[in-house]
Amino acid sequence: MSDSQPETSIEPATQSIGSQASGGQVELRDLTKIYADGDDRVVAVDNMNVTVEDGEFLVFVGPSGCGKTTTLRSIAGLEEITDGEILIEGENVAGKAPRQRDIAMVFQTYALYPHMTVQENMAYPLKVRGVGKATREQKVRETAELLQISELLDRQPKDLSGGQQQRVALGRALVREPRVFLFDEPLSNLDAKLRIKMRTELNRLHDKIGKTSIYVTHDQAEAMTLGDRIAVMNDAEIQQIAPPQQVYDKPANQFVAGFIGSPQMNFFDVEVRQDGGTTVIDTQSFALPYPDWMHDQIDSSPSDGFDAVYGIRPEDITISSLRGESVSETENAITAEVLVVEEMGSDFFLTMEKDGVEFQAIVEPETSVSQGDTVTVSFNEDKYHLFDKSDGESLVYGSEGH
Ligand code: ATP
Repeated sequence: MSDSQPETSIEPATQSIGSQASGGQVELRDLTKIYADGDDRVVAVDNMNVTVEDGEFLVFVGPSGCGKTTTLRSIAGLEEITDGEILIEGENVAGKAPRQRDIAMVFQTYALYPHMTVQENMAYPLKVRGVGKATREQKVRETAELLQISELLDRQPKDLSGGQQQRVALGRALVREPRVFLFDEPLSNLDAKLRIKMRTELNRLHDKIGKTSIYVTHDQAEAMTLGDRIAVMNDAEIQQIAPPQQVYDKPANQFVAGFIGSPQMNFFDVEVRQDGGTTVIDTQSFALPYPDWMHDQIDSSPSDGFDAVYGIRPEDITISSLRGESVSETENAITAEVLVVEEMGSDFFLTMEKDGVEFQAIVEPETSVSQGDTVTVSFNEDKYHLFDKSDGESLVYGSEGH
């Protein structure tokens, strides 16, 4: 995560706040950033190619250290890139200083000037750019209204809550009306409730202003709710870039399937093999029938047998009987023991076990299930995922998924 840092690029206002004007297209071509210190080399961004469309909200999401912040800082001009090109509205900005790129960046830490009032903080980027007082005041007034912080303009940062400070930091970026907004985990210092509120507000703000926005987070829920598209990163590379629901329904590989969704998808190492004339997905601890639709979608012939990783999301497992009657191998069901019941209010999260293999299910809170119960659970065969055992690539994502 980047350090606290006031923004560096300042442009005079050219359009009125709240207009539907769109921002600039951002294109990364073969972007590579390697940090080298003597013999130590860290490839933080590896040959990345992505085009963020005019006015699009793109979210980079991935685990700590995967290269999200480095990507963002490279676009901002705060990192010297090792290779590749960064184009904004078609112009290669790789050699340009941050202030020449017409970009505003909002950081996790608010980086407000402590001795200035909110009004002065927000007006500062315009002031150093030589924008006149009357215009500055008008822009700050309009932006403050948009962010609903008009009553805070005379206060100093120390007299504001975390959420209010983050709004002022947003305002200071907005007031400049740059071509592109970059957000580096801007909500992570806020409490859970406020994060969700600010998430909604950022969505609304983006709909209103329509500027290209690139947002970095490690929070998959934030990514799902904010992005027009999300780019899931791991190990310096984009694993998949697509609209949120598509990433959820059709994950490109096992990493994406496991990263997006909470609780995460259940995975089992399996052998697909013949068993007395039928094909089964064998987890070693239990076997499920191989659905007909998979025959149509998978090239590997199940009659030869093959190894794979089987995945199913917790919401696609249901309790079909609380009594735990035994089931035949031709059913998509097994008996399992309930190890943990987590009551989440709107749902129960169950951790279950079958012959030493654990998995999770999400069930309705009305389900009267207790720790230690043996129940029958059904697996929704239309929602099965299979991944290639060797490289984790998705082989199928449900009967409707192809
Ligand atoms: P986080 O969510 O923790 O901020 P991230 O996905 O944003 O992680 P980056 O901060 O981009 O990840 O870091 C990517 C990789 O580059 C990491 O291995 C990190 O240790 C390394 N890295 C980042 N900055 C530097 C630096 N200045 N010098 C050397 N290595 C660095």
